[in-house]
Parts: sequence; C-alpha cells; structure tokens
Amino acid sequence: MKKALPLFVAMLLLPPAAMTSLADEWFAPFQRVADYKPKGPEHCFRQFNIDWSWIALRPDQLPEFLSEADPVALAEFCQRMHMDGTVVMAVPHHGYCTFETRVGAKFPGMKGDWFGRTISELHKRKIAAFGYVTLNWNWKFIRENLGRDFIHGRPDAEGVCASRCVICLNAPGYLELVEAYTREVLENYPVDGMRWDILISAKQGGLHGSSDCTCEGCRGLFRELYGQELTRWQDFDQRRHMDFHIATTTRAVERLRALCKRIKPSVPVWQNGLNSYHENSLNVGRLLDIAYNEFGDPFRLLLARGATGKSAAINGLMNKAGWDPGKPLAPLVHHEWRACLALGGRCYSYYGHKLTNHRTLLPNEAMQAWHREQLAPFYAMVSQLEPWLQDATPVSQVGVVFSEATRFRFPNGDRAPYISALEPIATNSLQRSAPVEFINALDLGDPQKNIARFKLLILPRTSGLSATELDSLRHYVREGGSLLVGGDALRHDAQGKELGFFALAKELDMERGAVPPPSLRVRPYGKGRMACIADVSQTAIDQLAGPAPLTVQPPENRVILTHQERQHRWVLHLLDDGPCTVELRREFAAPTRVMARYPASGWTYAVESTGTGLRIQTVGQAADRILVLE
Ligand SMILES: [Zn+2]
Repeated sequence: MKKALPLFVAMLLLPPAAMTSLADEWFAPFQRVADYKPKGPEHCFRQFNIDWSWIALRPDQLPEFLSEADPVALAEFCQRMHMDGTVVMAVPHHGYCTFETRVGAKFPGMKGDWFGRTISELHKRKIAAFGYVTLNWNWKFIRENLGRDFIHGRPDAEGVCASRCVICLNAPGYLELVEAYTREVLENYPVDGMRWDILISAKQGGLHGSSDCTCEGCRGLFRELYGQELTRWQDFDQRRHMDFHIATTTRAVERLRALCKRIKPSVPVWQNGLNSYHENSLNVGRLLDIAYNEFGDPFRLLLARGATGKSAAINGLMNKAGWDPGKPLAPLVHHEWRACLALGGRCYSYYGHKLTNHRTLLPNEAMQAWHREQLAPFYAMVSQLEPWLQDATPVSQVGVVFSEATRFRFPNGDRAPYISALEPIATNSLQRSAPVEFINALDLGDPQKNIARFKLLILPRTSGLSATELDSLRHYVREGGSLLVGGDALRHDAQGKELGFFALAKELDMERGAVPPPSLRVRPYGKGRMACIADVSQTAIDQLAGPAPLTVQPPENRVILTHQERQHRWVLHLLDDGPCTVELRREFAAPTRVMARYPASGWTYAVESTGTGLRIQTVGQAADRILVLE
C-alpha cells in the first residue's frame, strides 16, 4: 500500500546560527604560528590558484614580478569570487621566494613580505591559504647549475627554461633546499595546507624529454637500493628503470611529508603528481592528506579517492579545458562541477592562469570578467550547498578492487591498459546514476572500509593481490558478498610475473589453466557467490549486484545519491535539469521526508512511499537542483 506524503514541502535551510558556528571554527586569532589551526583543503569546496608560473618567462622580466602586487587587491578579488581557499605560491617555478627567507632569494622586484601579507589578508576574509613550493622546475636553480649532470635539457635562446629543463630529484643538495624552503613556510606562516608541484624523475622516455640521469645522487640511491653500481642505464632492463623512477619520486614525497609532520602535523599536505595519469605509484598518495585529480574527469576522481583511500579529492575541473592565447574562454559547465562535488571532489580552478598580470598578480580584464560571470555565481551557490556537502559520501553498492601492482605485468609498468579496463565500468555506472566505488586492495581488510556493505566486488584485470588480501575477498564472499573476476585478473603476482593460473580458480571450481568464459560463470561459495567472465559487462554487473540504490526516469537524467552519516541525511544531486522520477530503495537509504531543497523556487516535487522505498517526482525548469532527505 502506498502512503502519500505532503506534496509540497517548504524549503528548510540550516538556521543562520548553525552556519556561523561552522565558519567560526577556523581563522581564530592565535599567538604563535604553531597555535594556528589550519583549515585544510578537505574543508574548502571552492578552491583557486592564481598560478603565475607560466607568464613572462624570460629571465630579464624577473624584476617586474610582484612589483605592483597588492595583497589586499588579491584577497578582495578572491572574496568577490566567493573562494574559500587558494594556493599561495611561496616558491613558484621561477625559483625565487615570495616570503622572508634565509635559504632562498626573494623576487627582486617584490616589496615587503608578499606571502605573509597575502595570507593575513586572505584570513581576514576567511579564505584558507595553501603554501606552494615547486619541485622539479626551479628555473633559478637550473640556470645556476647549467652544465651539471643533474640538470637535463637547456633553456632556449632567450634563456627560457619552461618545461625544457628538469632537475633530477636526486641532485646533491636539491631536496635539502626544497625542505629548507618548506621549513621556513611552515614555521613562520599560518598556512592552511602545504603542496608541492611536479613530481618526475630524470629518466629516459619520461615526461618532458628528460634523459637518463647518472648524477652522484642517483648513483648513491641506486647503490643503497640495489647494492650495485649504476654504471650506464643501458646495462639495466626497463623494470629497473621504472623501479628506480618510482623509488626516486617516492623518496621525495616521503621526505617532504615527514618534515612537515615533524614541524606541524595538523597542516594537511599534498602533491599534484600522484594521480592516474602519472608513472608515480598511486599508493604513495596514501601517505598524503587528500587525493588530487588534475583534470576533473569523474572516473579519475573516483579512482584517485579509492586508490589513496581518501574521502575527498581536490579536483581541477577547468584545468582540462586549458587556455592558450587566442582561444576563447570556455563557459563553466555546471553539471560537471556539481558531479565533482557529489563524488567527493573539491572544486579547484587555475583556469586562464596565463592571463594573469605578472606585476599585479591579478587576472587581466578578460579573465576577471570570466571569473565574475562564470565562477563567482557558481561558487556563491556552492557556499549555500556546503552544509550538504560536508562529510558526504556517494552511496555505492558495487566496489571495484584496484591494485597498483596490476600495472607491472604490462610493458614498462604502463598503467594505461588497466585504466582502460576500469574506465568503462565507472563511466557506465555514473551514467546510470549508480556510481561504483574504487577500493584499494590494500584496504580490503580495513574494518573502517567495511567491504561487507558492497553487494558486489569486481576485479577487472586486477592482479598482484597478497594472500591476506585474497583471504579478505574469500571472507567477504563467505559472508554473503558476490565477487566478479574479470578477464585475466589474479593471474599475475605483485611483480607482474605470470602465475599460470588464477588465484581463485579452486573457489570457482575451474581447471588450473582455464580462462574465464565469455558468458558469466557463477559458483556458490559460503553464503555468497564467486563469478568470472572474460569481459566485465553491465549485464553481468546487474545480475550479481541486484537493484541499484536509485533509478531515474528518464534514464539519461543523472542523479547522485550521497549520505551524510553523522547528520542522518541523504542528498539527491540532480545533475541534469528537467522533470524526472527518482526511485530510492529503502535498503540503501531510508529517509522519510524532505528537509530542504535548492534552489528555493522554480521547481516542485512530490514524494510518495512505495513497497521498496520512496518515489520522488520533480517538475519545473529550475537548474542545479538538490533535494535533502532525512
Ligand atoms: Zn640524478
């Protein structure tokens, strides 16, 4: 029997008092920098970076940088754009410092302590300030060390280094210099986070045309790792090249993280080079405090969060649009940004950064207009939605097990073929309003991750699991879960060596050398099921996972359901506009009523209970809709 609930429920916003107390948690007065409580990026949904590394690149332009920079004007600009956090560059690629330093050199044209004054002006406006230090591109260091074997590439005829040159991260004394910059920033300034930029090693075939490095630092690390002399790189196979690359970048991350945690553990730290586009180990991202997704793709966002085990990810949405001189500015696509927010992303833009004035560090007129017309209204909206974004997680009934070790079975440790197996599963799931969740194999036994909540776990080509991780999967199935092994999953060890059988062949009652069939093969195991198939298809997923937490009509309208466990609320993010009907299954979400909606007008909804949960019908032309249920 259906029970009708009130057709139209008045909008309820959080009372203003509640919002104020939330905001007052941060930016309190402090005596010593060590006492300042940082508002990390996880709490900032409207992030920005006036990245000024890629303008006026000639060395003779250096004295012009920051010569007319006014911290108040920049902070006011950020405030007008409704930003709540911004990167503040302490050592951009130019290699000069924007703060009071003993270890580095200040920008010659800078007046006073621009970094400190900017942080102070931002904090007055309740905007978080994240310190930034470059890693591989420090053009000052490169120019001063040209000709040394740890500098790769050469500046052009005008002296421009840009991405033509790269510093080996093992260069003698270089990481010590980056550590020294970082120490000065953390000890002397109340930053809300600390981020490093670029994470590459000087290896053949690597990014930016860098060549193999045999500098003293590389030789030392090589000896330490392998107990062997690094003579010529051609004496070693590709596996050794990749292993050394990963060891080099991992060491840099570990050292910088450890330094920060020694100085001030409450300052969240992150890196932009630990994402699925890079050769660096995604598992190293687990050491940091937030995941980072450079180009805004929702699949990569989910993967970055799952692989690193983080609930939040900085998501560079406009960055994939890029901007080059002569190109028109792109409009901000609301549904993409809103999908990012629903999936645990934190909006982050440095779009149009090549249109920054290097003297004032403000965007030029065209870019100011873009920010005013596109970004500001969107960020204003996000500031109103924030109570429903805090601590929210997407509701998923299907988990995809990710294992970084899978890549080592492919030539050169290339992760791309594995990504190609994962991507369609995630993309389809998002299109069907039933996003999957990625879970790192390293987290399978973590009680906090509670894999029992998934109806289905999928291993699409996933390999390299340890005996303990396999045991966690067996336990999951014995207790009632369904497991789907896809393609050649579980046939390689953690080093990428072929096993000649797959690890759960016995449980699947398969011959030792047998391969998964084209159609689904399902075997009972304990209270659950073990299944395998050559290619993971949506039909197989549906058959094993059962009904999704929500379904939408028309199906092309995408809706994401998130849960705020602590607040006992569920949020429906209606990404597409126009009328639609959402069926919510009680098994996954059991609200009884609507407590709020956004926007307040321009649309209506009707809620009725059904045998399986709630049915919600929406009508009206309003865009960017959200419905909050409790
Ligand atoms: Zn080197």
